[in-house]
Order: sequence, then C-alpha cells, then structure tokens
Amino acid sequence: MNMLAEAPPMEHGEKDLIRALRCTVSASRLSLFLQCRLKFYYRYVLKLQKPKTPSLHLGSAVHTVLKVWNKARWLQQPFPLKAVHETYLKAWTDTTEGPVEWEPGEEESDKTTGWRLLDTYLREHHVPAEIKPDAVEVSVEADLYKHGLPKLIGILDLVQQGQIIDYKTTSTTPNAEKVVHTTEIQTSAYAILYRHNTGREEAGVQLHHLVKLKNPKVVITTMPPMSQQQQTRLYRQMEAYVQGLQRGDFIPSPGMHCASCEFFNECRRWH
Ligand code: SF4
Repeated sequence: MNMLAEAPPMEHGEKDLIRALRCTVSASRLSLFLQCRLKFYYRYVLKLQKPKTPSLHLGSAVHTVLKVWNKARWLQQPFPLKAVHETYLKAWTDTTEGPVEWEPGEEESDKTTGWRLLDTYLREHHVPAEIKPDAVEVSVEADLYKHGLPKLIGILDLVQQGQIIDYKTTSTTPNAEKVVHTTEIQTSAYAILYRHNTGREEAGVQLHHLVKLKNPKVVITTMPPMSQQQQTRLYRQMEAYVQGLQRGDFIPSPGMHCASCEFFNECRRWH
C-alpha cells in the first residue's frame, strides 16, 4: 500500500513553509528530522503547540541565568550570587513560551533542583571567571550554498579562549563516548558556524552537563576540533534533510525516543 499516495494534498502555505525550511537549517531541526520526520512535521510545519515539559522549563531557567552570568563576565561587571538567585527566580516565573504541566508538588522540588545546579556550577568555577569570554549567546550563520546545502544557523552559548562551550541539563550522568556520538550534529554544526564567522579553527568543543542528581554535579565533555570526517558526515546529513523535504517525506520512525514525544496521540492517528 502506498501511504504517501494517501496523504492529503499539501496546502499552499505548507509548501511555502517547507520551501523556507529547505533553505535554512539549525542543528536542532536537522537532528529532529533525522530522528523522526513526522515529529519534525508536527513541530515545524504544522506548528502544533504543546505544553512545555517540566524538565524543559528547568533547563530554560538554568540556561537563562548562565547567559546573564556570562554576559556580565563579558561586560566585566560584577554579578554576585544574590543577583544570580534573583535572576533565577525571575526566569522561573517566565512562562512566555507557554504553560508548564506540573504534577502536584513537582514545581517546588524542580525549582530547588535548578537552583542547586546553578549554585554547584558557579561555586566550582568550571570556566575561568576572570577571563573575558570571546562571545556569549551569539546568533551566527554560515552560507553553505557553494556545497549545494542550506544556510546553517545557530546560537553559540559561550565561546571562551577559542573553545565552544554548550550547556546541557540532564538527569543522568553522561557517558563521554556516547555523548560525543549523540551530540555530533550539534557540535559539528557549531564548529562550522565558528569557522565561517571567525576564519579560524575552534580550539575544541566542551559540553558542560549540569546533572540533576540528589547531590548535583557537573560533568564536562571535552572534544577536539571537528575532523574532516565529521564535517563530511554533517554535509551528507544536510543533503538527506533537503532531499527528504523535497519529497515531502514525513513518515513516523517509532522507537525508544517516542516515550518523550509530545505528539504521541497525533502519531497514533497518522495513516
Ligand atoms: S511518537 Fe515516535 S514515531 Fe510518532 S511522531 Fe513521535 S517520535 Fe515520531
């Protein structure tokens, strides 16, 4: 049975949206497309709105505070722990990205967890606080037209001494070898963006994992500069993305990742 033949004809607006998505891509869009094309379709083409998950909310609040902290370092202005805490409380109440679905009692405990993560990270001095960052939360793009690829876009959390640093909050201690593999699309994309915008090779990429354990801890994964092989892999993945969008290929890819998919019900009705 030809499932694609049964799909309803595309609306005009949908075609335009897909065309625009083909021209520009970020690491998160590319990763999602390669993980499950139907989920990509629900999120970026149909733009179905879903409540924010508690763990996403916690991650956003922590990320916001680290951004403000790094900006203060960039401006070489003091940012004492009391101000950090006030920024965190403000970020926690920010629901501009939509409501959060909490279980009873969950919000207070998550709020404490988020603060303990930040407190641990800042007290342990994981970046040399006295050295001015090269860049903080900077939006960058790389035109890859000459490779027949879309424009790559992204936001670099922090660049310090030529190292690209990205923050992650996680509930489990990461395994360094697996993390290098599972984040490869993102780290290669950042390396390309850095090189296109500075004309230099990055000193390396660091992932700063803030681990949500009873006793929070910070695990840093350090990677060397992107290799030629990694660049080729990313370019081939981008080609598959463009070709998939050209075909309107939005099939479901069921697997372990479905456990956290917000479009589970819609997906079960897909035919
Ligand atoms: S439930 Fe799984 S297969 Fe379905 S859209 Fe979500 S990730 Fe894809």
